[in-house]
Amino acid sequence: MSRASNGKPGFSYESQEAFNWVDYLKETGGSAAPAKCFKQFETPPKNEFRPGMKLEARDPRNLTSICIASVISTIGPRLRLRLDGSDDKSDFYRIVDSTDLHPNGYCEKRNELLQPPLGFMGNPSSWNTFLKRTKSSASFAPESFFKPEPPTPSANFFEVGMKLEAVDRKNAQLICPAAVGAIDKDQIHVVFDGWKGAFDYWCRYDSREIFPVGWCQKGEHPLQPPGNRAVPPKNRIRNNHSEEETREKSATPPIERSLNHINSTDGEKCVIYIKTSCDCGPYIEKDKLRTLNVKKVGPVPITSGLHVAVQSLVDCAKHQRTMFSRIRDGNGRVIININYGDKVHSKRLPPIETNDALWAFLREFLQDVDACQRLFSPDGFIKCEQCTNASSSEKKANFPTGSIKKSQPSSPATAEGLLKSVPNEPVSRDHRRHLEENGNIGEVKKIRLSVGDKEKVKSEKRRSSGANSNGGATRNSLNNSLSTEVAQGNKLFFKKNVTKNFRIILQE
Ligand SMILES: [Zn+2]
Repeated sequence: MSRASNGKPGFSYESQEAFNWVDYLKETGGSAAPAKCFKQFETPPKNEFRPGMKLEARDPRNLTSICIASVISTIGPRLRLRLDGSDDKSDFYRIVDSTDLHPNGYCEKRNELLQPPLGFMGNPSSWNTFLKRTKSSASFAPESFFKPEPPTPSANFFEVGMKLEAVDRKNAQLICPAAVGAIDKDQIHVVFDGWKGAFDYWCRYDSREIFPVGWCQKGEHPLQPPGNRAVPPKNRIRNNHSEEETREKSATPPIERSLNHINSTDGEKCVIYIKTSCDCGPYIEKDKLRTLNVKKVGPVPITSGLHVAVQSLVDCAKHQRTMFSRIRDGNGRVIININYGDKVHSKRLPPIETNDALWAFLREFLQDVDACQRLFSPDGFIKCEQCTNASSSEKKANFPTGSIKKSQPSSPATAEGLLKSVPNEPVSRDHRRHLEENGNIGEVKKIRLSVGDKEKVKSEKRRSSGANSNGGATRNSLNNSLSTEVAQGNKLFFKKNVTKNFRIILQE
């Protein structure tokens, strides 16, 4: 196989460039719903929140309650939120100008009590203690971060056939191109291209989950191209795009391509692959690492990538306290949380703004926890020579466990260095399992998906048949779907349901 054809590096399907509304409207013959239809500002509000900040938020499952919530991540003008005391399965998204969000003290001013979230995991009698502890250790988002709500349209101005952008309610972090399929008084039927109704829903015309065409791009929110999920009959944009991309890719060696990709994103985005088959050292539980939900992060801003990468490893720690003590702290924006001694402890990481600094930090971090320094990689799930060789012997000669090796002969600290240091060799048969675990499917000759979710199977089938019939296109499309699920820090937990159901089966 040629590595150029594995199509791993350089995916940017999560970014706005991958989807062009102008072409799409031409191709599908639709018109965009005018801005007056929406309860959204034409210019999406600025998102100043940072992960880890707390606020008061309406419990989406119990609308009479206001709870303490934490910002888990930010995505464009939206926040991924988790109510303190609930688990990650009830995370939800809100735009920063939502009336469901309030600064600290909102309840108190109104003589209301902050409520435990529906499904509070603690003992109900411990709520007050929990609340006190949470509030005392929290960094609350300043009042200026909360933006005023946009005005409500005076009537339902939508017409059938109008195009818009809409939240995919089954994967709430995604916003996808959609159309108005039907109208009933105050309700509109939001229809997603190519899904035969699986994701469609009715909502009020003033729903905060629908946006005018172009909203995502203006708000730097990813827009999921329809072809990522299925190819609508009239729309061949996705295919054309894949072909172009395949051509482009085979022309440029993968490493350079990946560097271009990393360097070309001005706001310094990063892509981090977590190679869970690498030696993770004595502090991390191998099994937890292997079942990690996120194996690819990005393209996301540097700070989000840093947060997800470090927090993911910390979450896999054998001994939280020891792990915690090994993280170097600083005064940056990223905060890592860890649970021990019945308390949540936080540590602030150093300020990191560039890919160079990011990779230098990650390498040091891996070194500090005695793990393989290629466990994080900017360039896909490329074979790690060191760990593959070591896996047959009991211990990795170069990485004796149990002590910090700051004097370890260092591999290059920059993304470029890391990429260049990655061995570029054909893949052996022995290595197949390693690849499979890593999700590297560049080697796959035939791909069969066994998926629990019916929709997913349908879409995969349709996507494969819709895509170019050569293997490369099929692989690309599978890669897309995988990387789409895994991509971006904010999609972190969503993956849980999907990926467990995915199995990549290698056939001769
Ligand atoms: Zn390794």
